[in-house]
Amino acid sequence: MEFDLSWILLGLPLAFVLGWLASRFDLRQLRDENRRAPKAYFKGLNYLLNEQQDQAIDAFIEAVQNDPDTTELHFALGNLFRRRGEYNRAVRVHEHLLSRGDLGRADRDRAQHALALDFLKAGLLDHAEDALLRLEGTPFEAQARVALLAIYERSRDWSQAMTITQKMQDAHQGDFSARQAHFLCEQALGCSRQGNEGEAQKLLEQAVQTAPQAARARIELARLKQRGGKPQEALDMLLELAELAPASLPLAVPLMVELTGQSGDGRKVYDLLRQRYDLMPSLDLMDGIVALETSLGLGANSREWYVRHLEHEPSLVAAAKWLSDERLENEEFHPQVQRALDQASKPLTRYRCAACGFEARQHFWQCPGCQTWDSYPARRVEEL
Ligand SMILES: [Zn+2]
Repeated sequence: MEFDLSWILLGLPLAFVLGWLASRFDLRQLRDENRRAPKAYFKGLNYLLNEQQDQAIDAFIEAVQNDPDTTELHFALGNLFRRRGEYNRAVRVHEHLLSRGDLGRADRDRAQHALALDFLKAGLLDHAEDALLRLEGTPFEAQARVALLAIYERSRDWSQAMTITQKMQDAHQGDFSARQAHFLCEQALGCSRQGNEGEAQKLLEQAVQTAPQAARARIELARLKQRGGKPQEALDMLLELAELAPASLPLAVPLMVELTGQSGDGRKVYDLLRQRYDLMPSLDLMDGIVALETSLGLGANSREWYVRHLEHEPSLVAAAKWLSDERLENEEFHPQVQRALDQASKPLTRYRCAACGFEARQHFWQCPGCQTWDSYPARRVEEL
């Protein structure tokens, strides 16, 4: 009895000491681990700050191997891979994250967004589209829709572009009506090419309704009506445009002049151009006026107009046009002088994108250089 009791008295403190030692040992091990993970992490960060990305990646891979559950490290590694153009590796890291069952909702959304960016940067648009569509209903939704719209525009998928802009419009992400009018015009052009003018007309009328001030829809609709043998309706369409969007008039002038020959409204158009020219002396308006004076037999001399234009604007284009009919003293040199002037003035009759500076001989509704809509002014380079 006595013997047993002394053992218990001795055993209790011993057990306590052993337990305490065990707990100390665990704690120290834990602390060691904790210390090791941030160390590799900081090493990687240090390399990053010194722009030594190779070493940074090695350090992050080491850290991830030591602690495969570290979400933040995976994100850092994935972003590094993407920035270096190693899209396969970036995709693998983000797909690995997404495959983990223990990932929270916020991190899952983040990984999905990162994966979409990997595909976008890699130019894998179909994969990017899939990944972006999964971001609906997440905090990345608005960003994802902008990227989706860019994909649909680049692949000329106008009906999808319509759908996504409608969603953006409904979510108050901006006013997309001008862009939607372009999508409808593109769809209409497709219908016209396939010979379906009826559907094209419906789409263009919808475009006019969507963005009443958009020049393109009315100009395309006027062309369609002209093809359909309705020059009067076509011309009325353009006269309406001249009221609603005066700045776009120069773009409509060539078609207007063409239509006056079929509709008999020449004088009305002439008066309008004269009146607008006084407000905005543009080369295209001048060309229209000269053409109408000739066709209406108004008896005026086109060369007088070029001189009048030169009084308003120091225009090389107008000077070249005036000179082309001038009888010079040394006539034998005239063709050379004329050729030199034409050569020099040619770049001035181009249109230039206001967003990226891309120049083109024809007017574009969407810049082929930077894909911006309506970035080409209605006036030519010389008049900018
Ligand atoms: Zn551009």
